[in-house]
Amino acid sequence: MESKQPPDDKWKKKDSDQEPESFMDMFRHGKFRFSIWYFIAALVLLTLVNELVMNRAVNQQQIISFSQFKTLVEDGTIRRVQLTHDYYLGFTQSTSQNTGFGGVTDVYRTVPVNDPSFIPLLDEKGIVYEAIVKKEPVMLNLLLSWVLPLGIMFIFWRFMFKRIGNMGENAMTFGRNRSKIVAEGETGVDFTDVAGADEAKAELEEVVDFLKNPDKYLSIGGKIPKGVLLVGVPGTGKTLLARAVAGVAHVPFFRMSGADFVEMFVGVGAARVRDLFKQAREKAPCIIFIDELDAIGKSRANAISSNDEREQTLNQLLVEMDGFDATSGVIILAATNRPEILDPALLRPGRFDRQVLVDKPDAAGREAILRIHSKNVKLGDDIDLTQVAKMTPGMVGADLANIVNEAALLAVRNGRKKVAHSDFSDAIEKVIAGLEKKNKLINPKERKVIAYHETGHALIAALTEGADPVTKISIVPRGLGALGYTLQMPEEDRYLMTEDELLGRIDVLLGGRAAEDFIFKKISTGASNDLTRATDIVRNMITEYGMSERFKNVALTKRGNQFLNPMENPYMQKEYSEATQQYIDDEIARVIASRYERVLQILEEHQEKLKEIAGVLLEKEVLEQKEFLALLGK
Ligand code: ADP
Ligand code: MG
Ligand code: ZN
Repeated sequence: MESKQPPDDKWKKKDSDQEPESFMDMFRHGKFRFSIWYFIAALVLLTLVNELVMNRAVNQQQIISFSQFKTLVEDGTIRRVQLTHDYYLGFTQSTSQNTGFGGVTDVYRTVPVNDPSFIPLLDEKGIVYEAIVKKEPVMLNLLLSWVLPLGIMFIFWRFMFKRIGNMGENAMTFGRNRSKIVAEGETGVDFTDVAGADEAKAELEEVVDFLKNPDKYLSIGGKIPKGVLLVGVPGTGKTLLARAVAGVAHVPFFRMSGADFVEMFVGVGAARVRDLFKQAREKAPCIIFIDELDAIGKSRANAISSNDEREQTLNQLLVEMDGFDATSGVIILAATNRPEILDPALLRPGRFDRQVLVDKPDAAGREAILRIHSKNVKLGDDIDLTQVAKMTPGMVGADLANIVNEAALLAVRNGRKKVAHSDFSDAIEKVIAGLEKKNKLINPKERKVIAYHETGHALIAALTEGADPVTKISIVPRGLGALGYTLQMPEEDRYLMTEDELLGRIDVLLGGRAAEDFIFKKISTGASNDLTRATDIVRNMITEYGMSERFKNVALTKRGNQFLNPMENPYMQKEYSEATQQYIDDEIARVIASRYERVLQILEEHQEKLKEIAGVLLEKEVLEQKEFLALLGK
């Protein structure tokens, strides 16, 4: 709901541009900023005037040849001579301290010739002569040797900073820029403005409680978290959540974006971090919020080129975070949509030790978000926001806010007083088209495949003896890569697994692919990770656990350092022949095939449930453990 600038504003601006400005106006508008120009102009003028006055005598001089000059000396016309390097002056009066102003004296000027008889001639005639070191025009000299180079340097310097752009300006006006670090008061946002991110909300409400009642936690001996990192794809409401925290905590809120710290000049970002924390400590209890933390928090390890400025800024941040303890009442919130590129040092205990996932909303969450954003929008009676939520799978809060706004605009365009359902569907189409172009949405056909795939995993898990119970099924895509997931949670810590349990695990992994196969008679690439894991289990059963028929109780590989990746592990040695390798390959294929058969069979037996659960999953997008068990009839 951006407010557009009214068009007449623009015209006004143009008009005033054309108006002649008064001198003071020009001054106020900073037209005199380049005062160096005026300074230079004044200097040049002064110099010229000075030269003119000084050389007025020269203008009255009669320039004559040296031989004429000599003749005039000989006949006594010239009574006094001044000798300089470049010229000789001859005066018709001997006494006057001639300045040339009186005009009483005639002056002759000539260019000297190396004539050794000239000085004896002067002596002979008794003519007063003096050698004069010509006075240099002082001002001009000063101008040329000092002011001009300095001026040029100054202009060049200005130009450089103009080129660097605002960054240079910022660095120069760093002191003034601190206004950015000034704490915000109430943001006017609270948790009721955020919907769908319930887990994140719960976590952050706790943070607010820390700030309000620190004693409650400290008296028990609990530690208040120093840093909370909000992680989630763009538009899920991370910034909004942080503002909500500030809005309800009633403490000062320092907000900066990671990009604000990244400067052209080494050290500026670090200084800014220092400044930020200094102010925060003075104002404690308070909240520091660093949005887009990845801008400074990028891992130093795999940077292609090292960036001193960013590294210094990051180091300063780490130092500052270590520098205060939990009792100081400063809590640092940060947000990022790329946690994987963050420097591991940031995530260590005592820094951002709490990570809060701000997930994409499910259908119910989307409905709640739509309600929030259409609070002030007049909705027609035919609008069912539940329906709208169902039409917008995969969308985040920002997209939904956009849809409500678009729908309102469309209603206005169509001359309606209230938003109609058709406005909403048109708006959704428009937004979907945009998102599809950006490849951010999953099309309905694929969603169905994903729903069956995940239901397949869950169903097999539920029907397999000893498999970990399913706690959550989701087809809300999570960042890049994962299109959906089925969570299983072991009921207790397990250190040993029986052969049957391993096989059960393989079955669950194959369940996704098998469900796709059974329902659509087509298989997709979505199962590749499942297959890798299933195959690894079978291979380990054969080579490490001695669970194959031919090599029962035989370990075919020697286990070395188990913390190393087997691919790079020099201690993981193959201790078997080519023939055994062949057997292993065949056996892996045989086991997988037989398990797959079994899984397909189970799915066929329970196909009613499979279809029912997948249908509900498509609708709700997320099934919690209880809902899932209820659907299973348990
Ligand atoms: P992020 O910082 O995660 O990229 P924002 O907080 O900037 O996302 O969200 C952009 C806008 O989208 C918010 O100002 C708000 O209007 C809307 N929005 C996003 N998520 C939610 C949500 N969970 N509930 C309500 N509105 C949301
Ligand atoms: Mg944000
Ligand atoms: Zn899977």
